[in-house]
Amino acid sequence: MIESLDTLFCVRGNMFLSQNMLNKLNESFILQIRPPKNHELLTGTNGNWFCPNHGEKMVNKNGYACCPVCNLSISEFIYELTRLNPHLNFEH
Ligand SMILES: [Zn+2]
Repeated sequence: MIESLDTLFCVRGNMFLSQNMLNKLNESFILQIRPPKNHELLTGTNGNWFCPNHGEKMVNKNGYACCPVCNLSISEFIYELTRLNPHLNFEH
């Protein structure tokens, strides 16, 4: 992701994040003042997720999408990321 214009642009998803989502991702991944909750992955969301801090592809650890570097899970945010900040459909 690239920080610009007070928000983040998700290059891979080709979208801008809401300020609210940006704040939450910042707190959990960059500042690490609020650990992300471990939510079960929703079915069909095993797609490609990347750590907002390290850019590493999240790996499935016990059903949670976790960064292999910081071990933080993005699972809590997937619902909001896919529903409220819809990524364009893209395939590798
Ligand atoms: Zn990470």
